[in-house]
This record gives sequence, structure tokens and C-alpha cells, in this order.
Amino acid sequence: MNKMTSPVDLDVDYGPLYAARKKIYPQSVSGTFRNIKWALMAFCLGVYYFLPFVRWDRGPNAPNQAVLIDFPHRRFYFFFIEIWPQEVYYFTGLLVIAAMTLFLMNALGGRVWCGYLCPQTVWTDLFYATERWIEGDRRTRMMKEKGKLTPRRVGEIVAKHSIWLFIAWWTGGAWVLYFADAPTLVKELATGEAPSIAYISIAVLTFTTYTLAGHMREQVCVYMCPWPRIQAALTDEWALNVTYRYDRGEPRTSIKKAVELRAKGEAAGDCVDCYQCVAVCPTGIDIRDGAQLGCIMCGLCIDACDTVMTKVGRPTRLIAYDTDVNIKRRLAGQNPVYRLFRARTLVYVAIIAATGLLMLYTLMTRSALALNVLHDRNPLFVTLSDGSIRNGYTLHFLNKLNSLRTVALDVEGLPDPTVHVVGSDVITVGPPLVALAPDQTREVRVLVTLPASAKLGKSMPVVFGVRDLETGETTTTADHFIAQ
Ligand code: SF4
Ligand code: SF4
Repeated sequence: MNKMTSPVDLDVDYGPLYAARKKIYPQSVSGTFRNIKWALMAFCLGVYYFLPFVRWDRGPNAPNQAVLIDFPHRRFYFFFIEIWPQEVYYFTGLLVIAAMTLFLMNALGGRVWCGYLCPQTVWTDLFYATERWIEGDRRTRMMKEKGKLTPRRVGEIVAKHSIWLFIAWWTGGAWVLYFADAPTLVKELATGEAPSIAYISIAVLTFTTYTLAGHMREQVCVYMCPWPRIQAALTDEWALNVTYRYDRGEPRTSIKKAVELRAKGEAAGDCVDCYQCVAVCPTGIDIRDGAQLGCIMCGLCIDACDTVMTKVGRPTRLIAYDTDVNIKRRLAGQNPVYRLFRARTLVYVAIIAATGLLMLYTLMTRSALALNVLHDRNPLFVTLSDGSIRNGYTLHFLNKLNSLRTVALDVEGLPDPTVHVVGSDVITVGPPLVALAPDQTREVRVLVTLPASAKLGKSMPVVFGVRDLETGETTTTADHFIAQ
């Protein structure tokens, strides 16, 4: 009989699984990747805070805000695009494109989304910049936290948290502006006349921004966000991840010691073991230990190391966006290879392009008139006293134009039908007319009657069609006429 063995020695006390947070004091750094991060931060925050104030003329009776989520009227406006609830499938397309873009970024440059564009990174970076501006750089901040609470220090703490709260409040305030006319809502908020949901939303977002960007910071990336786990499963050996190039030699040691080692004919690496790459890291990791879940691939350690390498007169990019494959190739004396075009990147690009083109085509060719039909469930049909058979339907009309239009209703596929629009006074043999108000959905009940003399099947297909009398635009929808 097999004896079950545990991989854990039950007699050993391994201590608690919880690891207390080690507070991180990232040092400021300058260089290529820091500049890219500043530029992207300015762009993202600029778009987020000011986009609600951009105007877009859609004609009379329509909102002129370029980006607006209009819940009361159940519309989403994005510049020239107007999405109705019936067209929510466009959001599915957008989600597919967003997911594939994230996968593509990962296949090309690892967690570049996390390092440069994720809101958590952008706002945390902004909060760090504020902290540095008020309290000083890494060493100063560390000393101040250990030091006494002087009036000046209290002033700094109050100033820092006040500015953080202001940024958080502004973030929440900008969010609600996407759900109403921004200039009007700003006035209402200032005069206390805005709806209570606006104040509640601002309060919630102020709290979450202040907490996540001011206090939780890297913990969100390391413990809360699922993307690092998914990203680790999706990556491959050709993705350009931030990598310490250990092919530049080992051991890592001081300049003086490296000189001594080399004089003795022993090996020494280019790394001078200065820990600058760790000091600037916003998640506090040492990238020289290899790829890690905590690395958001922001590239700041590259900038820090490049500065050090320049000072000591050694080639830069000891840390770089690279692959383990290339490190092994260099160690073997081969040239590095980069494979940006490979099966997965091409598949991602193809899916993004196909979904984008399909959405564009449907947007360009979509009708401003829509019609849906629902057959009565009970009774399915009614036999009238003269032997004729009547079916009832509910028609949903959708007029996406900002003008009144009159449409003619046709019923095709049935022998000699009589069509009666409930609420209309006359029963006509010709097509009845239905008026549709601007930008409106209208529900109309329609009765279709076939004479007793008609040869009727048990269930016959029927097509409802509408035609705009002015523009000639048409649309159809199909159902069945039940006779038995
Ligand atoms: S290891 Fe480098 S790239 Fe990764 S998070 Fe830290 S500083 Fe950014
Ligand atoms: S910054 Fe460069 S030289 Fe300094 S410890 Fe990091 S990898 Fe080594």
C-alpha cells in the first residue's frame, strides 16, 4: 500500500503566510523611459479631465457633448457615433479590440500597459510626484518618516494629503461629467443643485483614488490585479520584457573590486551593485533576480542603470527590453534576434483589424430606421364570426433621425391581408401610415386579418416592411401568421 507523504514537514513552524508590506520610497530618475512616462501621463490625464468639455455639433435636439453616456435617454455618444441600447453589440466589439490590444502589447513588450497606461500606474505616478515635490526625494522622505513630528513636518503632511485629496476629488468630478452636459453639471455642482447621485459618485471616486493611488500603490499591482497572473500565462520567450542582461558578466561587484578581479584574471560583471535600479523601482523589486510578478515593466530601472553605466564609462542598457533567448544567444557568441512578427502577434492584429473593420462597416451602413416584431403569445390567432382569421403583433419602430418622419407599413407574403393599426380609426387595404417622432422608439399594435376564402397553411411566413415616405429608406422584419 502506498503511504501518502506531505511535501510540508508538519513538525516545522513555517510562520504566518501573511507578509507585512515593506514601504517603498521610489527615487526620482531621469532618462528616456521616464520622459515617455511623463508624456503619456500628461496625455492620459489631459484626455480624462478635459474630454467632457469638448463639443460636437449633432444638429438641433441632440446633445453637443463629444463623449456622453446619456442614461436618461439610453444613448452613448462618441463624436460622430451614436449608439442605441439595441446596438449594444458595438461594446462587445470594443471589448474584443481592447482585449486583443492588451494581448498584443503583452506579446510585443510585456506589461507595457501596466507600466505606462494603466490608470493605477498613472495616478500613482502623479501622487508620487506630489509627494516628492513636498517631502523631497527618497532619502529625505525616509529620514523624515523616522524623524520627529515638528510643526514644519506636520505642515508637509497636511499639504501632501490635501493635494492628494484635491486630485482625487477632481478625478471623481471629471468622471461624473461624462454622464451629463459638462458645463451645466459643473454649474449645478457649484450651486448645490446637482442630483445626489453625482455627489455620491464623486465621493466614492475621491475615496477610491485617494486610497488606491495614495496609500495602496504597488499593492494593487502585486496583490489585487488579475492581469499579472494572466499576463504570465500569455507571455512567450520572444516578448520584450525588462531584463537584466547577465551575459554582461558576473559577479556584480564594485568598480574597485572589479578592477582587482580582472587584474587577477578573474571574471567581473558590468553591474557595480549600486542598487540604483532597486531604489527607483515603484514596486521595490530587484530586476536582476529575473522576471517577477511585481515588475510592471515601466523601464525606470533602465534609466537608472543607464545613468550609472554612463558615469562609470561602461556601455548602457545593462538592463533593457530584451529576451532570455537573446541573452543565451549572446552568451553563445551569436547575434540577438527579435521576432515581432510571429503567429500570435499576427493573429492578434488580424482579430483587431477584422473586428474594427466590421464595426466600421456596420456603422457606415447602418439604417436610421429599425423595426422589430413580436407575435401575440395568447391567443395565437382568432377566428372571427365571418370565418376570417386574425393575428395580433406588436411592432417596435425606431427612428434614429432628429426629425419627424412618416412611414408606410407593408405586409408581404400573405394572400389579401387587411392590416389595422390599433389606435388608427380606419381599416385599410393599402399600407397604413405611422408617424414617428424625432429620435424616438414607438410601439404599435397591429392586427392582420386574412379572409375565410384564403387558402391558409398552419403557419405562413410574413414580412413586415416600412418605407419612409420622404427619404424612401426601408427596413423589414419577418414573423409568421398562425392560422390553425
Ligand atoms: S523592475 Fe524596473 S521595469 Fe520593473 S517595475 Fe521595477 S523599475 Fe519598473
Ligand atoms: S543600477 Fe545597474 S549597475 Fe546598479 S545595481 Fe542595478 S543593474 Fe547593477
